Amino acid sequence: MQASETSKTRELSGTAAVGGPPYRAPREEFPILSRPVNGRPLVWLDTAATAQKPRRVLDAMRSFSETRYANVHRGVHTLGYAATQAYEEARLRVAQFIGASGADEVIFVRGATEAINLVAASFGRSFISSGDEIIVTELEHHSNIVPWQLLRESTGAVLKVAPIADDGTLDLVQLEAMLGSRTRLVAVTHVSNVLGTVLPIATIARMAHAVGAHLLVDGCQAVPHRFVDVQAIGADFYAFSAHKMYGPTGIGVLWGRRELLAAMPPYQGGGEMIASVTFEQTTLKHPPHRFEAGTPPIIEANGLAAACDYLTDLGLARICGHEAALRAYALEGLATVPGLRVIGAGGNHEDGRAGIISFTMDGVHPHDVATVLDGSGIAIRAGHHCAQPLMQRLSVPATARVSFGLYNTTEDVDALVAGLGEVGEVFG
Ligand code: PMP
Repeated sequence: MQASETSKTRELSGTAAVGGPPYRAPREEFPILSRPVNGRPLVWLDTAATAQKPRRVLDAMRSFSETRYANVHRGVHTLGYAATQAYEEARLRVAQFIGASGADEVIFVRGATEAINLVAASFGRSFISSGDEIIVTELEHHSNIVPWQLLRESTGAVLKVAPIADDGTLDLVQLEAMLGSRTRLVAVTHVSNVLGTVLPIATIARMAHAVGAHLLVDGCQAVPHRFVDVQAIGADFYAFSAHKMYGPTGIGVLWGRRELLAAMPPYQGGGEMIASVTFEQTTLKHPPHRFEAGTPPIIEANGLAAACDYLTDLGLARICGHEAALRAYALEGLATVPGLRVIGAGGNHEDGRAGIISFTMDGVHPHDVATVLDGSGIAIRAGHHCAQPLMQRLSVPATARVSFGLYNTTEDVDALVAGLGEVGEVFG
Protein backbone atom coordinates (compact mmCIF):
# COMPACT_ATOMS: atom_id res chain seq x y z
CA MET A 1 0.00 0.00 0.00
CA GLN A 2 1.41 3.39 -0.95
CA ALA A 3 1.74 6.16 1.61
CA SER A 4 -0.73 8.40 -0.17
CA GLU A 5 -3.31 5.61 -0.26
CA THR A 6 -2.84 4.92 3.42
CA SER A 7 -3.57 8.49 4.29
CA LYS A 8 -6.55 8.50 1.95
CA THR A 9 -7.99 5.51 3.76
CA ARG A 10 -7.39 7.18 7.10
CA GLU A 11 -8.97 10.42 5.98
CA LEU A 12 -11.95 8.59 4.54
CA SER A 13 -12.43 6.46 7.58
CA GLY A 14 -12.01 9.20 10.15
CA THR A 15 -14.41 8.52 12.99
CA ALA A 16 -14.31 11.91 14.62
CA ALA A 17 -18.09 12.06 14.44
CA VAL A 18 -18.53 8.93 16.52
CA GLY A 19 -15.38 9.04 18.64
CA GLY A 20 -12.70 6.41 19.12
CA PRO A 21 -9.59 5.73 17.07
CA PRO A 22 -9.71 5.96 13.26
CA TYR A 23 -11.56 3.05 11.70
CA ARG A 24 -9.29 0.49 10.07
CA ALA A 25 -11.00 -2.11 7.91
CA PRO A 26 -10.08 -5.42 9.60
CA ARG A 27 -9.34 -7.37 6.41
CA GLU A 28 -6.85 -9.70 8.07
CA GLU A 29 -9.60 -11.09 10.31
CA PHE A 30 -11.35 -12.55 7.26
CA PRO A 31 -9.33 -15.53 5.99
CA ILE A 32 -11.05 -15.66 2.59
CA LEU A 33 -9.98 -12.10 1.77
CA SER A 34 -6.37 -13.24 1.49
CA ARG A 35 -7.07 -15.72 -1.32
CA PRO A 36 -6.45 -14.61 -4.87
CA VAL A 37 -9.22 -14.90 -7.45
CA ASN A 38 -8.23 -15.22 -11.10
CA GLY A 39 -4.68 -14.33 -10.15
CA ARG A 40 -5.63 -11.06 -8.45
CA PRO A 41 -6.33 -10.19 -4.80
CA LEU A 42 -10.01 -10.79 -4.01
CA VAL A 43 -12.09 -7.60 -3.88
CA TRP A 44 -15.41 -8.55 -2.27
CA LEU A 45 -18.10 -6.04 -3.19
CA ASP A 46 -21.07 -8.39 -2.82
CA THR A 47 -21.78 -8.16 0.90
CA ALA A 48 -25.47 -7.42 0.28
CA ALA A 49 -25.76 -10.93 -1.19
CA THR A 50 -23.78 -12.45 1.62
CA ALA A 51 -21.00 -11.29 3.92
CA GLN A 52 -17.65 -13.03 4.40
CA LYS A 53 -16.91 -14.56 7.79
CA PRO A 54 -14.39 -13.34 10.36
CA ARG A 55 -12.22 -15.81 12.24
CA ARG A 56 -14.16 -15.06 15.42
CA VAL A 57 -17.37 -16.48 13.94
CA LEU A 58 -15.61 -19.48 12.39
CA ASP A 59 -13.79 -20.16 15.67
CA ALA A 60 -16.98 -19.93 17.74
CA MET A 61 -18.66 -22.61 15.64
CA ARG A 62 -15.60 -24.85 15.59
CA SER A 63 -14.99 -24.51 19.32
CA PHE A 64 -18.65 -25.23 20.15
CA SER A 65 -18.65 -28.25 17.82
CA GLU A 66 -15.43 -29.58 19.32
CA THR A 67 -16.32 -29.15 22.98
CA ARG A 68 -20.04 -28.79 23.66
CA TYR A 69 -22.00 -30.19 20.74
CA ALA A 70 -25.22 -32.12 21.38
CA ASN A 71 -28.88 -31.71 20.51
CA VAL A 72 -30.68 -29.07 22.60
CA HIS A 73 -33.63 -29.20 25.02
CA ARG A 74 -33.49 -33.01 25.06
CA GLY A 75 -30.58 -34.81 26.63
CA VAL A 76 -30.16 -35.07 30.38
CA HIS A 77 -26.48 -35.72 29.79
CA THR A 78 -23.72 -33.20 30.36
CA LEU A 79 -23.29 -32.19 26.73
CA GLY A 80 -27.05 -31.89 26.28
CA TYR A 81 -27.13 -29.32 29.07
CA ALA A 82 -24.02 -27.53 27.80
CA ALA A 83 -25.38 -27.27 24.26
CA THR A 84 -28.80 -26.07 25.47
CA GLN A 85 -27.15 -23.45 27.65
CA ALA A 86 -25.02 -22.20 24.76
CA TYR A 87 -28.04 -22.11 22.42
CA GLU A 88 -30.18 -20.13 24.88
CA GLU A 89 -27.27 -17.83 25.69
CA ALA A 90 -26.93 -17.17 21.96
CA ARG A 91 -30.61 -16.19 21.89
CA LEU A 92 -30.04 -13.77 24.77
CA ARG A 93 -27.02 -12.21 23.04
CA VAL A 94 -29.07 -11.67 19.88
CA ALA A 95 -31.90 -10.16 21.95
CA GLN A 96 -29.49 -7.70 23.56
CA PHE A 97 -27.92 -6.89 20.19
CA ILE A 98 -31.25 -5.73 18.70
CA GLY A 99 -32.73 -4.21 21.86
CA ALA A 100 -35.46 -6.83 22.37
CA SER A 101 -37.21 -6.73 25.73
CA GLY A 102 -36.31 -10.36 26.34
CA ALA A 103 -34.79 -13.50 24.81
CA ASP A 104 -38.29 -14.99 24.49
CA GLU A 105 -38.99 -12.49 21.70
CA VAL A 106 -36.22 -13.94 19.51
CA ILE A 107 -37.16 -16.87 17.27
CA PHE A 108 -34.42 -18.67 15.41
CA VAL A 109 -35.45 -19.44 11.83
CA ARG A 110 -33.60 -20.35 8.64
CA GLY A 111 -33.28 -16.75 7.47
CA ALA A 112 -35.25 -13.61 6.76
CA THR A 113 -37.28 -15.42 4.12
CA GLU A 114 -38.52 -17.96 6.64
CA ALA A 115 -39.11 -15.23 9.23
CA ILE A 116 -41.45 -13.36 6.90
CA ASN A 117 -43.19 -16.57 5.81
CA LEU A 118 -43.70 -17.42 9.48
CA VAL A 119 -45.48 -14.11 10.10
CA ALA A 120 -47.57 -14.50 6.94
CA ALA A 121 -48.58 -18.06 7.80
CA SER A 122 -49.15 -17.60 11.52
CA PHE A 123 -50.09 -13.97 12.21
CA GLY A 124 -51.52 -13.58 8.70
CA ARG A 125 -53.88 -16.54 8.72
CA SER A 126 -55.05 -15.73 12.26
CA PHE A 127 -55.49 -11.98 12.11
CA ILE A 128 -55.89 -11.04 8.44
CA SER A 129 -59.13 -11.81 6.64
CA SER A 130 -60.86 -11.14 3.36
CA GLY A 131 -60.79 -7.44 2.48
CA ASP A 132 -58.12 -6.60 5.05
CA GLU A 133 -55.12 -4.77 3.65
CA ILE A 134 -51.38 -5.39 3.69
CA ILE A 135 -49.13 -2.61 2.42
CA VAL A 136 -45.64 -3.18 1.01
CA THR A 137 -43.43 -0.77 -0.96
CA GLU A 138 -41.96 -0.76 -4.46
CA LEU A 139 -38.53 -1.31 -2.91
CA GLU A 140 -39.18 -4.79 -1.56
CA HIS A 141 -37.19 -7.98 -2.05
CA HIS A 142 -39.28 -10.89 -3.37
CA SER A 143 -39.21 -12.41 0.10
CA ASN A 144 -41.29 -9.48 1.35
CA ILE A 145 -43.74 -9.70 -1.55
CA VAL A 146 -44.45 -13.35 -2.35
CA PRO A 147 -45.48 -14.46 1.19
CA TRP A 148 -48.14 -11.72 1.16
CA GLN A 149 -49.35 -12.79 -2.27
CA LEU A 150 -49.71 -16.35 -0.93
CA LEU A 151 -51.63 -14.98 2.03
CA ARG A 152 -53.80 -12.94 -0.31
CA GLU A 153 -54.66 -16.11 -2.21
CA SER A 154 -55.60 -18.04 0.90
CA THR A 155 -57.51 -15.28 2.72
CA GLY A 156 -58.80 -12.80 0.15
CA ALA A 157 -56.74 -10.01 1.71
CA VAL A 158 -55.75 -7.03 -0.44
CA LEU A 159 -52.10 -6.25 -1.20
CA LYS A 160 -51.30 -2.58 -1.76
CA VAL A 161 -47.98 -1.12 -2.92
CA ALA A 162 -46.65 2.21 -1.65
CA PRO A 163 -44.76 4.03 -4.42
CA ILE A 164 -41.24 5.45 -4.40
CA ALA A 165 -39.91 8.64 -5.98
CA ASP A 166 -37.39 8.49 -8.84
CA ASP A 167 -34.53 8.95 -6.38
CA GLY A 168 -35.52 5.68 -4.69
CA THR A 169 -37.04 7.21 -1.56
CA LEU A 170 -40.41 6.15 -0.24
CA ASP A 171 -43.26 8.57 -0.83
CA LEU A 172 -44.51 9.01 2.75
CA VAL A 173 -47.43 11.20 1.73
CA GLN A 174 -48.81 8.49 -0.52
CA LEU A 175 -48.11 5.82 2.06
CA GLU A 176 -50.07 7.72 4.68
CA ALA A 177 -52.95 8.21 2.25
CA MET A 178 -53.09 4.44 1.65
CA LEU A 179 -53.41 3.61 5.34
CA GLY A 180 -56.92 3.11 6.67
CA SER A 181 -59.18 1.15 8.97
CA ARG A 182 -58.72 -2.03 6.86
CA THR A 183 -54.90 -1.91 7.04
CA ARG A 184 -53.70 -4.79 9.19
CA LEU A 185 -50.02 -4.90 8.34
CA VAL A 186 -47.38 -2.65 6.81
CA ALA A 187 -44.38 -4.71 5.63
CA VAL A 188 -41.34 -2.70 4.57
CA THR A 189 -37.63 -3.11 4.12
CA HIS A 190 -35.39 -1.11 6.48
CA VAL A 191 -32.68 -0.66 3.83
CA SER A 192 -33.13 -1.35 0.10
CA ASN A 193 -30.89 -4.16 -1.11
CA VAL A 194 -30.75 -2.50 -4.54
CA LEU A 195 -30.43 1.25 -3.90
CA GLY A 196 -29.27 1.49 -0.30
CA THR A 197 -32.25 3.70 0.57
CA VAL A 198 -32.83 3.82 4.33
CA LEU A 199 -36.50 3.99 5.23
CA PRO A 200 -37.70 6.18 8.15
CA ILE A 201 -39.00 3.24 10.14
CA ALA A 202 -39.99 5.17 13.26
CA THR A 203 -42.18 7.49 11.17
CA ILE A 204 -43.73 4.57 9.29
CA ALA A 205 -44.38 2.81 12.61
CA ARG A 206 -46.24 5.87 13.94
CA MET A 207 -48.34 6.06 10.77
CA ALA A 208 -49.18 2.33 10.86
CA HIS A 209 -50.01 2.34 14.55
CA ALA A 210 -52.22 5.42 14.14
CA VAL A 211 -54.65 3.27 12.12
CA GLY A 212 -54.24 0.22 14.35
CA ALA A 213 -51.99 -1.68 11.90
CA HIS A 214 -48.83 -3.60 12.78
CA LEU A 215 -45.41 -3.07 11.22
CA LEU A 216 -43.09 -5.79 9.94
CA VAL A 217 -39.58 -4.69 8.99
CA ASP A 218 -37.23 -6.65 6.74
CA GLY A 219 -33.93 -5.77 8.39
CA CYS A 220 -31.58 -7.90 6.25
CA GLN A 221 -29.58 -4.98 4.93
CA ALA A 222 -29.79 -2.87 8.08
CA VAL A 223 -28.64 -5.04 10.99
CA PRO A 224 -25.05 -5.54 9.72
CA HIS A 225 -24.56 -1.88 8.82
CA ARG A 226 -26.24 0.38 11.38
CA PHE A 227 -27.34 0.28 14.99
CA VAL A 228 -30.84 -1.17 15.22
CA ASP A 229 -33.04 -1.05 18.32
CA VAL A 230 -36.25 -2.85 17.40
CA GLN A 231 -38.23 -1.31 20.24
CA ALA A 232 -36.99 2.25 19.73
CA ILE A 233 -37.96 2.24 16.05
CA GLY A 234 -41.44 1.00 16.91
CA ALA A 235 -41.47 -2.22 14.87
CA ASP A 236 -43.80 -5.10 15.74
CA PHE A 237 -41.86 -7.75 13.79
CA TYR A 238 -38.24 -7.53 12.61
CA ALA A 239 -36.63 -10.13 10.32
CA PHE A 240 -32.97 -10.68 9.35
CA SER A 241 -30.46 -13.30 8.19
CA ALA A 242 -27.19 -14.18 9.93
CA HIS A 243 -25.24 -14.75 6.73
CA LYS A 244 -25.51 -11.10 5.74
CA MET A 245 -24.14 -9.98 9.10
CA TYR A 246 -20.88 -11.96 8.96
CA GLY A 247 -22.52 -14.99 10.57
CA PRO A 248 -23.30 -18.42 9.11
CA THR A 249 -25.91 -19.49 6.58
CA GLY A 250 -28.89 -21.53 7.76
CA ILE A 251 -29.98 -19.25 10.58
CA GLY A 252 -31.86 -15.99 10.87
CA VAL A 253 -34.08 -14.23 13.34
CA LEU A 254 -37.67 -13.25 13.66
CA TRP A 255 -38.11 -10.78 16.48
CA GLY A 256 -41.71 -10.13 17.51
CA ARG A 257 -43.41 -8.24 20.30
CA ARG A 258 -44.11 -10.66 23.16
CA GLU A 259 -47.87 -10.16 23.21
CA LEU A 260 -48.14 -10.69 19.46
CA LEU A 261 -46.07 -13.88 19.51
CA ALA A 262 -48.12 -15.18 22.45
CA ALA A 263 -51.32 -14.81 20.42
CA MET A 264 -49.92 -16.54 17.31
CA PRO A 265 -50.39 -20.24 16.45
CA PRO A 266 -47.42 -22.40 15.43
CA TYR A 267 -46.07 -22.22 11.92
CA GLN A 268 -44.81 -25.80 11.78
CA GLY A 269 -45.46 -28.83 13.99
CA GLY A 270 -42.99 -31.35 15.32
CA GLY A 271 -40.62 -32.05 18.16
CA GLU A 272 -39.41 -29.27 20.45
CA MET A 273 -42.42 -26.98 20.11
CA ILE A 274 -44.78 -29.00 22.30
CA ALA A 275 -45.29 -29.36 26.04
CA SER A 276 -47.14 -32.68 25.65
CA VAL A 277 -48.62 -34.78 22.86
CA THR A 278 -51.29 -37.49 22.78
CA PHE A 279 -53.12 -38.64 19.66
CA GLU A 280 -56.11 -36.70 20.91
CA GLN A 281 -54.47 -33.44 21.86
CA THR A 282 -51.23 -31.49 21.83
CA THR A 283 -50.26 -28.78 24.28
CA LEU A 284 -47.95 -26.19 22.80
CA LYS A 285 -44.92 -24.56 24.35
CA HIS A 286 -44.78 -20.82 24.77
CA PRO A 287 -42.82 -18.61 22.34
CA PRO A 288 -40.10 -18.72 21.20
CA HIS A 289 -40.00 -22.54 21.32
CA ARG A 290 -43.53 -22.80 19.91
CA PHE A 291 -42.09 -21.58 16.62
CA GLU A 292 -38.98 -23.77 16.54
CA ALA A 293 -40.18 -27.23 15.50
CA GLY A 294 -37.46 -29.82 14.99
CA THR A 295 -33.73 -29.68 15.66
CA PRO A 296 -32.74 -26.04 15.32
CA PRO A 297 -29.50 -24.60 13.84
CA ILE A 298 -27.49 -25.17 17.02
CA ILE A 299 -23.95 -24.65 15.75
CA GLU A 300 -25.09 -21.69 13.68
CA ALA A 301 -26.73 -20.01 16.69
CA ASN A 302 -23.29 -19.90 18.29
CA GLY A 303 -21.87 -18.38 15.11
CA LEU A 304 -24.64 -15.78 14.98
CA ALA A 305 -24.03 -14.76 18.59
CA ALA A 306 -20.31 -14.39 17.82
CA ALA A 307 -21.21 -12.18 14.84
CA CYS A 308 -23.36 -9.96 17.10
CA ASP A 309 -20.46 -9.63 19.55
CA TYR A 310 -18.05 -8.89 16.70
CA LEU A 311 -20.25 -6.09 15.34
CA THR A 312 -20.81 -4.68 18.81
CA ASP A 313 -17.08 -4.63 19.55
CA LEU A 314 -16.22 -2.92 16.26
CA GLY A 315 -19.06 -0.45 16.84
CA LEU A 316 -22.00 -0.14 14.47
CA ALA A 317 -21.82 3.65 14.38
CA ARG A 318 -18.21 3.42 13.19
CA ILE A 319 -19.02 0.68 10.65
CA CYS A 320 -21.92 2.79 9.36
CA GLY A 321 -19.71 5.88 9.07
CA HIS A 322 -17.00 3.90 7.27
CA GLU A 323 -19.42 2.42 4.76
CA ALA A 324 -21.13 5.78 4.14
CA ALA A 325 -17.71 7.32 3.43
CA LEU A 326 -16.90 4.46 1.06
CA ARG A 327 -20.20 5.06 -0.74
CA ALA A 328 -19.39 8.75 -1.21
CA TYR A 329 -15.86 7.93 -2.38
CA ALA A 330 -17.20 5.31 -4.81
CA LEU A 331 -19.80 7.71 -6.24
CA GLU A 332 -16.98 10.13 -7.04
CA GLY A 333 -15.02 7.37 -8.77
CA LEU A 334 -18.01 6.01 -10.66
CA ALA A 335 -18.77 9.52 -11.96
CA THR A 336 -15.47 9.35 -13.91
CA VAL A 337 -16.42 6.15 -15.78
CA PRO A 338 -17.79 6.99 -19.27
CA GLY A 339 -21.34 5.78 -19.91
CA LEU A 340 -21.97 4.75 -16.30
CA ARG A 341 -25.32 5.73 -14.79
CA VAL A 342 -26.02 5.35 -11.09
CA ILE A 343 -29.62 4.18 -10.58
CA GLY A 344 -32.01 5.78 -8.11
CA ALA A 345 -29.44 7.87 -6.28
CA GLY A 346 -29.02 11.57 -5.64
CA GLY A 347 -31.44 14.10 -4.25
CA ASN A 348 -31.34 15.35 -0.71
CA HIS A 349 -31.37 11.81 0.57
CA GLU A 350 -27.85 10.80 -0.41
CA ASP A 351 -26.50 11.35 3.09
CA GLY A 352 -28.66 8.67 4.61
CA ARG A 353 -27.88 5.92 2.09
CA ALA A 354 -26.32 2.64 3.08
CA GLY A 355 -23.27 1.27 1.26
CA ILE A 356 -25.10 -0.16 -1.75
CA ILE A 357 -24.92 1.31 -5.27
CA SER A 358 -26.70 0.09 -8.40
CA PHE A 359 -25.59 1.21 -11.84
CA THR A 360 -25.77 0.46 -15.55
CA MET A 361 -23.21 1.04 -18.31
CA ASP A 362 -24.25 2.14 -21.79
CA GLY A 363 -24.21 -0.73 -24.25
CA VAL A 364 -22.98 -3.34 -21.75
CA HIS A 365 -25.24 -5.85 -20.02
CA PRO A 366 -24.76 -5.86 -16.23
CA HIS A 367 -23.83 -9.56 -16.39
CA ASP A 368 -20.99 -8.68 -18.77
CA VAL A 369 -19.85 -5.93 -16.40
CA ALA A 370 -19.73 -8.45 -13.56
CA THR A 371 -17.98 -11.10 -15.68
CA VAL A 372 -15.21 -8.75 -16.82
CA LEU A 373 -14.69 -7.53 -13.23
CA ASP A 374 -14.52 -11.13 -12.02
CA GLY A 375 -11.58 -11.62 -14.35
CA SER A 376 -9.79 -9.07 -12.16
CA GLY A 377 -10.84 -10.73 -8.90
CA ILE A 378 -13.61 -8.21 -8.24
CA ALA A 379 -16.94 -9.71 -7.11
CA ILE A 380 -20.08 -7.65 -7.71
CA ARG A 381 -23.67 -8.75 -8.24
CA ALA A 382 -25.57 -8.32 -11.51
CA GLY A 383 -29.23 -9.04 -12.19
CA HIS A 384 -32.59 -8.10 -10.70
CA HIS A 385 -31.47 -8.68 -7.09
CA CYS A 386 -34.72 -10.53 -6.26
CA ALA A 387 -36.53 -7.21 -6.75
CA GLN A 388 -38.14 -7.51 -10.18
CA PRO A 389 -40.99 -5.06 -9.42
CA LEU A 390 -38.38 -2.46 -8.45
CA MET A 391 -36.51 -3.06 -11.73
CA GLN A 392 -39.79 -2.40 -13.57
CA ARG A 393 -40.37 0.77 -11.56
CA LEU A 394 -36.86 1.98 -12.42
CA SER A 395 -37.29 0.94 -16.08
CA VAL A 396 -34.18 -1.25 -16.17
CA PRO A 397 -34.08 -5.00 -16.80
CA ALA A 398 -31.17 -5.46 -14.42
CA THR A 399 -28.40 -3.50 -12.71
CA ALA A 400 -24.83 -4.04 -11.62
CA ARG A 401 -24.58 -3.63 -7.84
CA VAL A 402 -21.66 -2.99 -5.54
CA SER A 403 -22.22 -3.36 -1.83
CA PHE A 404 -19.77 -2.58 0.94
CA GLY A 405 -18.99 -4.34 4.17
CA LEU A 406 -16.89 -3.45 7.18
CA TYR A 407 -13.77 -4.95 5.55
CA ASN A 408 -13.81 -2.84 2.38
CA THR A 409 -11.27 -0.09 1.75
CA THR A 410 -10.67 2.76 -0.67
CA GLU A 411 -8.27 0.43 -2.48
CA ASP A 412 -11.22 -1.85 -3.22
CA VAL A 413 -13.07 1.11 -4.72
CA ASP A 414 -10.00 2.11 -6.75
CA ALA A 415 -9.77 -1.46 -8.10
CA LEU A 416 -13.46 -1.31 -9.01
CA VAL A 417 -13.13 1.98 -10.87
CA ALA A 418 -10.03 0.71 -12.73
CA GLY A 419 -11.88 -2.53 -13.55
CA LEU A 420 -14.84 -0.59 -14.92
CA GLY A 421 -12.40 1.32 -17.14
CA GLU A 422 -11.36 -2.08 -18.56
CA VAL A 423 -15.02 -3.00 -19.09
CA GLY A 424 -15.38 0.17 -21.16
CA GLU A 425 -12.31 -0.79 -23.23
CA VAL A 426 -13.46 -4.41 -23.78
CA PHE A 427 -16.86 -3.28 -25.01
CA GLY A 428 -15.59 -0.30 -26.96
N1 PMP B 1 -34.67 -9.06 2.22
C1 PMP B 1 -33.63 -8.39 1.74
C2 PMP B 1 -33.67 -6.89 1.74
C3 PMP B 1 -32.52 -9.07 1.28
O1 PMP B 1 -31.47 -8.39 0.80
C4 PMP B 1 -32.52 -10.49 1.30
C5 PMP B 1 -31.34 -11.27 0.77
N2 PMP B 1 -30.93 -10.88 -0.51
C6 PMP B 1 -33.63 -11.15 1.82
C7 PMP B 1 -34.68 -10.41 2.27
C8 PMP B 1 -33.71 -12.64 1.90
O2 PMP B 1 -32.75 -13.14 2.77
P1 PMP B 1 -32.47 -14.71 2.87
O3 PMP B 1 -32.27 -15.19 1.46
O4 PMP B 1 -31.24 -14.81 3.68
O5 PMP B 1 -33.66 -15.33 3.52
